Amino acid sequence: MKKIQMVDLKSQYEKIKDTVNISIQEVLDTNTYINGPQVHQFQKSLEEYLDVKHVIPCANGTDALQIAMMGLDLKPGDEVITADFTFAATVEVIALLQLIPVLVDVDLYNMNISIEGIKKAITPKTKAIVPVHLFGRAANMEAIMAIAKEYNLYVIEDNAQAIGANCKFSDGTKKKAGTIGHVGATSFFPSKNLGCYGDGGAVFTNDDALAHKLRGIVNHGMYERYHHDVVGVNSRLDSIQAAVLNAKLPLLDEYGRARQDAARKYSAAFEGHKNIVAPTICSICDCHVFHQYTLRIIDADRNGLMQHLLEKGIPCAIYYPIPLHLQKAYADSRYNEEDFPVTNQLVREVLSLPMHTELDDEQIKFITDSVLQYLK
Ligand SMILES: *Cc1c(COP(=O)(O)O)cnc(C)c1O
Repeated sequence: MKKIQMVDLKSQYEKIKDTVNISIQEVLDTNTYINGPQVHQFQKSLEEYLDVKHVIPCANGTDALQIAMMGLDLKPGDEVITADFTFAATVEVIALLQLIPVLVDVDLYNMNISIEGIKKAITPKTKAIVPVHLFGRAANMEAIMAIAKEYNLYVIEDNAQAIGANCKFSDGTKKKAGTIGHVGATSFFPSKNLGCYGDGGAVFTNDDALAHKLRGIVNHGMYERYHHDVVGVNSRLDSIQAAVLNAKLPLLDEYGRARQDAARKYSAAFEGHKNIVAPTICSICDCHVFHQYTLRIIDADRNGLMQHLLEKGIPCAIYYPIPLHLQKAYADSRYNEEDFPVTNQLVREVLSLPMHTELDDEQIKFITDSVLQYLK
């Protein structure tokens, strides 16, 4: 059996080596390392794929979130609501911009920001909501957009883990996660669902005026050479990363299906087990693209199971072991433990199994057998 990896970028690269190498070679041949035609081409292709008017490429996903927030008229002290259960980058940029992060609990069934939690957290100072499409599963954007409309709030989607996922609406329409709020942000970190071979990110919006503003912000606040109209940053997707992404974007849907197939096989093996709650897979709407395949282990020794798997050579991980409201950097006297029953429960129960595009049946069987062997 091939060695099991949490994310197997090497095997994936082996299959697309020729296309990727040719694409990178073009950059080397033309020597346009910054703002080369590859970046423009990627921007256009991604706009088409996502069905969004504007994609603004940038240096990484954290920058993308920061730039998205810089583009909106938020002022220091404004409150921004986000999920307590996510990667720290989401809340980090809120704090960096001197906005006040307001963390709320998540829902147990999808591990995404709680709609009730958002409603309870709104104050006259609230200016924005940042839903995170965690582990590749789209948050309930219909409900979030309804709240945003009612309270006149911006919605900034953290789509770092869910590029390609669909959000379904009650009128039957579907839209790509990241394109529904006022602005969306994503990451092309190598292990993300659309990963390059270094750092990369992008901001998306359907708002022409906001897109114009964002294009200046990523480039030192310049709209005309050496005229700095706003305080900006330097955040660029380089041409070599764009070349990698141009080779990989056409495969994104196929990659999503490979992840969903692996998830389906995992979940079939765990079905009905008293100690395992497996993520649900809806193949009709593609609302989950499985950046992670995350189980909840209930009434059993989650840490013991993790140890057992690691000893058998199966990588696995706890995303995330500490809720953000308990992190030193983001603790706040406004929080009460009773406000976070679900995140406090999830940090004890979650376990993410290997998930990538190259998992084969033999590996999946070995992993599921090993889990079931421990839990009996
Ligand atoms: C990866 C990630 C980011 C940050 O992306 P980088 O490209 O690593 O800066 C932000 N939010 C979430 C939810 C992520 O998973």
